[in-house]
Amino acid sequence: MTRRGLLSASIVICAAVSLAAQGAAPRQPDWKAVEDETMRHYQALIRFDTSATEKAAAEYIKQALDQAGIPAQILFKDPERPNVVARLKGAGRKRPLLLLGHIDTVTVDASKWRFPPFSATRDGGFVYGRGAIDDKDNLTAAIETMVLLKRYAVPLDRDVILLAESGEEGASNLGIGYMMAEHYPEIDAEYCIAEGGDTIRERGEVRYATVQVTEKVVRGVELTARGISGHGSVPLKSNPIAHLGSAVGKFAAWQPSLRIDETTGTYFRRLAMLASPEQAKYYRDVISPDPKLATAAADWLFEHEPRHASMVRTSVSPNIFTGGYRSNVIPSEAKARLDVRMVPGEDAAALLDQIRKAIDDPAVEVQFAGGSGQRPPVPATRSDAELFKSIEAAVAAVYQVPAIPSMSTYATDMWPLRARGMQCAGIGSAIDLEDQSKGFGMHSDQERLLESELHRFVRLNWEIVTGLARAR
Ligand SMILES: [Zn+2]
Repeated sequence: MTRRGLLSASIVICAAVSLAAQGAAPRQPDWKAVEDETMRHYQALIRFDTSATEKAAAEYIKQALDQAGIPAQILFKDPERPNVVARLKGAGRKRPLLLLGHIDTVTVDASKWRFPPFSATRDGGFVYGRGAIDDKDNLTAAIETMVLLKRYAVPLDRDVILLAESGEEGASNLGIGYMMAEHYPEIDAEYCIAEGGDTIRERGEVRYATVQVTEKVVRGVELTARGISGHGSVPLKSNPIAHLGSAVGKFAAWQPSLRIDETTGTYFRRLAMLASPEQAKYYRDVISPDPKLATAAADWLFEHEPRHASMVRTSVSPNIFTGGYRSNVIPSEAKARLDVRMVPGEDAAALLDQIRKAIDDPAVEVQFAGGSGQRPPVPATRSDAELFKSIEAAVAAVYQVPAIPSMSTYATDMWPLRARGMQCAGIGSAIDLEDQSKGFGMHSDQERLLESELHRFVRLNWEIVTGLARAR
């Protein structure tokens, strides 16, 4: 922190203390003064490589909360993969609000990064680093919101709980799974806010914010081709690599049929109102009951807006292909993995049959990876009730744009919470739509976030949380 930052922060603290003493928390913090602190936490969190262990980052979070006067607990199943929980007490007139952020990130290929992936380099108005938009922006905003609520002694109708969790990226038994199994009373809430929404910027302007109210269900499908092994000099009809290759190739053209549920229908209807006339036509067509119009629009989306194409059907993406080990040996087996993202309500067993039919090759076995259990459908969060409406009001106040309910094509840790009856909504910091195709999206080779949007996102969190929890 600079000397000036330090000075203004201490002025803020003094002002907050005297206001609190008078029992009048301000409606708005001094946002300029908050920026240094936000950036300090954000950069610190990115600088911890949390792709394999969250330990040091969790200790940092606990310390930051403790220093702010918010007692925080570290809870874990695996000491290298801890979770942090903290609670601000409210008057108990309403059930709690949970702020959820994950500490871990996916792994990196450092050679693909312009700036080192854990450097949190500030350049040209951006901050670069793994986790910059998944999920250290949400995490920072949640932590900073807790700190501000405490500093300004905002009177609360309900408890506000922070869960900084581990293992979101593929080890949820250590994060949300563990917390739900062993510590549910500590995180039980009426509402939960987490990642999963997208605030869309185009040509430098925020256009709209999607609020995730439901999500696709992830299922892996494994394809195994078997044949007779032999000498590479004698080609065989049963060559499993050839069979698997043509099986996988089918998924360039074949897709499950369109499935538009209520959320997706609302999403495209509202998006059509904000879009250019050309785009609006596709958005209206894709939810049309006329299958010809809908299919043509879905094809257009697949080519031009793949993110949207994945919302209108269960998606199948072949992402791993393994087979063979020597150039002169025909292997007896080859395997491929399909990443299947099911629209809620899709019948998994029927889908597997469709995939078998599409492949149409008895030499290729098709089965769900990791067992065949199906997640039961979970109702979407209501977009006509308090949680969504509070977010909608906050989005309007901070960005002056509409909020649209959406289904994320990827899974989040809100699913098990929704399954327990919690109303959950996913939000996100504002990101240039153009950045995705430049390789700066979530899980991409690189990640970055505009500094100005990090700060606006903290404001959004503050608006949402105070809207839902401030004593009236
Ligand atoms: Zn994430």
